[in-house]
Amino acid sequence: MTLSKGRPYLAIPGPSVMPEEVLRAMHRSAPNIYEGELIDMTHGLVPDLKHVAGTRHNAAIYIGNGHAAWEAALSNVIAPGDRVLVPATGRFGFGWGEMAEGLGAEVEVLDFGRQHAMDMTKVAESLAADKDHRIKAVLGVHVDTSTSVRNDIAALRATMDEVGHPALLMADCIASLGCDRFEMDNWGVDVMVSASQKGLMVPPGLGFVFFNDKAAAVRSDMPRVSRYWDWTDRANPEFYYQLFCGTAPTHHLYGLRTALDMILDEGLENIWARHATLARAIWAAVEAWGQAGPIALNIQDTALRSHAVTSLRIGAPHGTALRRWTQHEAGLTLGIGLGMSTEQDPGGDGFFRFGHMGHVNAQMILGMLSTVQAGMTALDIPFGDGGLDAATAVIAKG
Ligand SMILES: *Cc1c(COP(=O)(O)O)cnc(C)c1O
Repeated sequence: MTLSKGRPYLAIPGPSVMPEEVLRAMHRSAPNIYEGELIDMTHGLVPDLKHVAGTRHNAAIYIGNGHAAWEAALSNVIAPGDRVLVPATGRFGFGWGEMAEGLGAEVEVLDFGRQHAMDMTKVAESLAADKDHRIKAVLGVHVDTSTSVRNDIAALRATMDEVGHPALLMADCIASLGCDRFEMDNWGVDVMVSASQKGLMVPPGLGFVFFNDKAAAVRSDMPRVSRYWDWTDRANPEFYYQLFCGTAPTHHLYGLRTALDMILDEGLENIWARHATLARAIWAAVEAWGQAGPIALNIQDTALRSHAVTSLRIGAPHGTALRRWTQHEAGLTLGIGLGMSTEQDPGGDGFFRFGHMGHVNAQMILGMLSTVQAGMTALDIPFGDGGLDAATAVIAKG
């Protein structure tokens, strides 16, 4: 017998759960891409995307995933030989740095490990040591999805300002946009990248790059930018096809329209509060379980934890065993311990992650936590009492 038949919950940190409304909006025949409804609908997306990003400046949309958005953003401002600084707090910081290296940049990485946020003192030292201002951009990942650390991007801007360094501040909000508070203009971010398949609740396939006038000026001084990645026409198109440098991602745009309507309807403050409360329920359960068992939150300081993804340590082989159990016995798919392998645990089997981004509510989170407790019981993984009570208490208080 299996208890897994029924509606599954894909609780991995992207792709996230797609709302039925979004899927329904995408289920239609191909629209005309030369005139009519699609054209007006697309132009209406841009102001709403900017609202979600917290910017009055420019937005460019790409057909691509998060890696495409990384490369798109870098291609507009980083030329071969340019230097970038990467304060890395997990796999995604390294990944963005590798993307810059692929474009010929000289990459300086500050590795803050797998359990810590950026140390701004160290960032300040690197910037201060760069007397000739060779560093052209600082690449900061807001929420690193591998470690689930949430970095203080406003503090990163303040650090750059204190040192008086003119580099661009570029932020990766792929895992945080539409989940954790982010305010591009108020926080002094010059370039921000995101993608459709996490907090924005649309299937993978759209990458977003937001940029301000300072970044646009850097783009203007570039020796050349490859046509496809160039954000200039995409952000200020004269003709519709320039928005996507070719055929529009028609069905994704319908999905995005519906997702943005849902976001505007709920309101960003409410969305951020919902994610925060659901995250606190998860933390409360894990902290109680961890009193008498191996499970633990990867990030200790509550102020540095993502509200959209939670990385857990449980010791090998329990992480992988638990994921297998919840998937096969209960229809719940948990995230792998990405970027967490060590010499003792080459497969990262001692780790797993909860994705709780976008279209998630209290009953989903309580179901997920109960299922994890059932899995630990079935697998004889010890855990402390009171985890589910602690989570339900958080939800009951709201
Ligand atoms: C998911 C993610 C990416 C990569 O996105 P892909 O769509 O997988 O290319 C990059 N950065 C962060 C923070 C992410 O969460």
